[in-house]
Amino acid sequence: MTTQQAHKEVPTQTLLGVRVSLLDMDGTVQEIDRMVAEGGTHTVVTADASGFAIAAEDSELRSVYESCDLATPDSQGVVWALRRKGAGTVRRVSGVDLMDRICRLSSERGHRLYFLGAAPGVAEMAAEKQRLRHPGCNIVGTRHGYFPADDDLVVAAEVAASKPDILFVAMGIPRQEKFITKTREVIGAKVAMGVGGSFDVFSGRTKRAPKLVIALKLEWLWRLILNPSKFEKVKMLPRFVSLVLREPR
Ligand code: UDP
Repeated sequence: MTTQQAHKEVPTQTLLGVRVSLLDMDGTVQEIDRMVAEGGTHTVVTADASGFAIAAEDSELRSVYESCDLATPDSQGVVWALRRKGAGTVRRVSGVDLMDRICRLSSERGHRLYFLGAAPGVAEMAAEKQRLRHPGCNIVGTRHGYFPADDDLVVAAEVAASKPDILFVAMGIPRQEKFITKTREVIGAKVAMGVGGSFDVFSGRTKRAPKLVIALKLEWLWRLILNPSKFEKVKMLPRFVSLVLREPR
């Protein structure tokens, strides 16, 4: 199994039962490149505070987090929690930034990418924009993410036909992680990764916060102002903080 090997090589800090990677962005991209070269199937989780809060209540999501091959600190809240436990130099590795770097990697190395998720037309638009941004980026398929869980295996067979090396699933937490766990053997992508709202960002449907707002670590507030439905997600922050404060250092 690849799971144990990957975790041995990657420096991690355990947070709420999950071994979160302490690699920086370059190290994370290299690790994903290594997983592709290694073959087999790997699951990458981009874990934010809401994901940890949901996992505390949802045993299926928790087991995905606990058994994944790589969990990156997707949000500033997770970075805070890791630093509190002694991982002083850890930096945020967000799903949207990581996906962009993997598109660049694909343009250099030819890795076959598949974009699954978001509303009809959005994955196609995101793919179009990423091909222009990273000429040569090898996107072999796209599909929207609005289908019932009963059709997961039908969609998986459709994705598998494109033989992707790396599958990005943008259907929100925990739906995307559950889809990946259920279908990973059918699809056979060497790396499958949940990326939340990233296709909305790449397609231009959602604007990323200005650099200054990101530097001030207020991207979550920016998203909340632009999209008040994100309030459900922000409401989970106090739950995450209380879980972290109750965990022994
Ligand atoms: N989505 C989807 N299928 C669904 C529900 C949601 O493809 O059944 C998409 C939605 O259109 C959006 C993404 O999943 O593009 C979720 O984005 P969000 O920013 O809410 O993700 P999260 O906050 O969980 O990272």
